[in-house]
Amino acid sequence: VRKAGSAIRLGMMPADGIGREVLPCAQRVLQNTPGAPKFEFLQLAAGFEHFQKTGSALPDETIRALKEECDGAMFGSVSSPSHKVEGYSSPIVRLRKELDLYANIRPVIGVRGTKDDEKWVDTVIVRENTECLYVKSETSESTPEGQVARAIRQISEKASTRIGRKAFEVALARQSMREKTGATTSGNAATAKVTVCHKSNVLSVTDGLFRTSVRAVYEKDARSAGGPGRYANVTMDEQLVDSMVYRLFREPHVFDVVVAPNLYGDIISDGAAALVGSLGVVASVNAGDTFFMGEPVHGSAPDIAGQNKANPIASIRSAALLLEYMGYPEPALKIYKAVDDVLREGKYLTPDLHGSATTTQCEEAILKALGA
Ligand code: ATP
Ligand code: MG
Repeated sequence: VRKAGSAIRLGMMPADGIGREVLPCAQRVLQNTPGAPKFEFLQLAAGFEHFQKTGSALPDETIRALKEECDGAMFGSVSSPSHKVEGYSSPIVRLRKELDLYANIRPVIGVRGTKDDEKWVDTVIVRENTECLYVKSETSESTPEGQVARAIRQISEKASTRIGRKAFEVALARQSMREKTGATTSGNAATAKVTVCHKSNVLSVTDGLFRTSVRAVYEKDARSAGGPGRYANVTMDEQLVDSMVYRLFREPHVFDVVVAPNLYGDIISDGAAALVGSLGVVASVNAGDTFFMGEPVHGSAPDIAGQNKANPIASIRSAALLLEYMGYPEPALKIYKAVDDVLREGKYLTPDLHGSATTTQCEEAILKALGA
């Protein structure tokens, strides 16, 4: 449901550190992509520095504007204080709640030509974002043998079913992107596949429920009356989380879409990011049913902030992901391709990829590759 007029209105929250350098790059790329819709950008306050100035990491006005005026959003990066700060809580966590962004979708894509192409990584991790151990319900009691701490891990049929459905939709969307590019964006499996990640051999109740709920999405679809189901061309398999990590490192090319509960998803998606050379190239989108927020995976990188050294690719790819999920796959593909061209050419890479280009030079190379 479009809220703005003729232009698509995006709420931009650069927040802290390098977020302020890389989010504007993503904005310029969106503005200059041939065939992209017209955008309006609304700059919105958020972040740790904003908290230090005003006592709020996410002003009510930002949430109101996102809900009432914006069609989508981009988030930069937020500094996390290393010690507990009274009154501070992460704006990202709250944004996910307020906007019901229950899925974190993270494509992990290798740089072609830099690794054995047949072991090329092109995987999407779909992480459940609202429950599991991160419901943060912990207790501690003292016993004669010392302290005992416990955490509650919540897995629900409702949340597992909707993340399952999201994963199959992601698999379909990827398949259609592959068809549009004429070949494969990946050297990987030509057919769409969803791998369900769990540990139900040990945690048969909680992971068991996750597993059966996700499987049920697929099985119900297969049984649906009136012709082949929506996911008829998607296959499904499953992997225990420990062997998943092993295989992800040994043979990442076997995975297409991986769906996982919150904690496993968190861990394997950071692990997967390590396969592709730099946090500076890994994008994500936080997805609900109708609202999407692009967000680079990296943090605020205080060690390089303010030096025009940060890699803008994670943010630029996040902007493309946002476009894709908002229903504009063609201009999104142009951005992915421009980024791939610049990565492959290797002349305008930032220091995290062992180049010497500045943030600005890398962005300019991408704009040029776009034909902007
Ligand atoms: P935060 O507390 O905000 O998470 P952090 O110190 O954990 O900060 P990250 O942003 O997670 O920082 O980055 C970890 C490392 O990766 C840092 O050394 C950082 O410089 C590097 N890095 C992260 N993002 C980028 C980027 N876009 N370009 C270049 N280097 C990056
Ligand atoms: Mg960090």
